[in-house]
Amino acid sequence: MDNNLYLGFDIGASSVKWGYGSCQQGLLCFESVTISDKTLAGLQNLFTQIINVVDSKIGVNNVKGIGIGTPGTIERKTGKLLGVNPNLQFWTGLSPAILVDPGLNIPVSYDNDANLMCLGEASLLADDLDVVGITIGSGIGSGYVRSKEVFHGSHGFAMELGHITVVEEGEPCNCGRKGCLEAYASIEGIKSRAKRHLNYDHALAWNLQGILLHAQADQRLQSYIQEGERLLGKSLANLCIVLDPDVILLGGGGAEGGLYCPQRIDAILSENLPGINRSKTSLRSAALGNKAGVLGAIVLAERKIV
Ligand SMILES: [Zn+2]
Repeated sequence: MDNNLYLGFDIGASSVKWGYGSCQQGLLCFESVTISDKTLAGLQNLFTQIINVVDSKIGVNNVKGIGIGTPGTIERKTGKLLGVNPNLQFWTGLSPAILVDPGLNIPVSYDNDANLMCLGEASLLADDLDVVGITIGSGIGSGYVRSKEVFHGSHGFAMELGHITVVEEGEPCNCGRKGCLEAYASIEGIKSRAKRHLNYDHALAWNLQGILLHAQADQRLQSYIQEGERLLGKSLANLCIVLDPDVILLGGGGAEGGLYCPQRIDAILSENLPGINRSKTSLRSAALGNKAGVLGAIVLAERKIV
């Protein structure tokens, strides 16, 4: 085993996934730990515990860099999280690097979780491909990797596909605006609509299977899922026209759990794209499942150093 290893973290709404490896060796270890204490101190403790486990497995001296993927927008100039994180409310105005004890003297790199999902998946493909990664989960995440680099925009705000307006004066979104794609196409968006309009008082407690089960018996809920799928497909078509990528990868719990049908999204792309685009951009399922963010964090940490 090469001693130059990198440690990757992927912070989610309810768990922290982590693992170590390298670009060449891939993921050598992958684990997931539930976040039981949703405070800054709780998250810092969790990171310390994980690093202790890593020390016992491979020796922390062999970790040459740490990468962290996190929900939220990271401002490019300050490196701090901006805006609201509904699932981790304390997680704003901070630099993700504060989760790692500076006494370890290990360089820490970080980026948005969807960006790192895209980076992890893109690292398995040819280096010269332009790759868009979409995560369908509690929100809609998106990332764009061009020639191995994550595209951030001038301020760090690029690729917020979940917050493009798809319905004028539409459903309220977590970001405070109305009619965002995320309010229609994400798992939380569909649950919120079911609660608000279809009188499912306990909808917010459903998991994905709960949504799919109820939708089998309720055509109205089924039509919300279809609307989410259609709006996502149309948004991806618009994104293709703007970015002209080689590949769009669909990932996240909603994609893996069968919320939408990739063949139908592909058909929506065909209906909405000019012919020259359609023949050039392919839609694929993400390959790494819930491990993509951790691999992306490892790739980021390694590329920052090597
Ligand atoms: Zn929004």
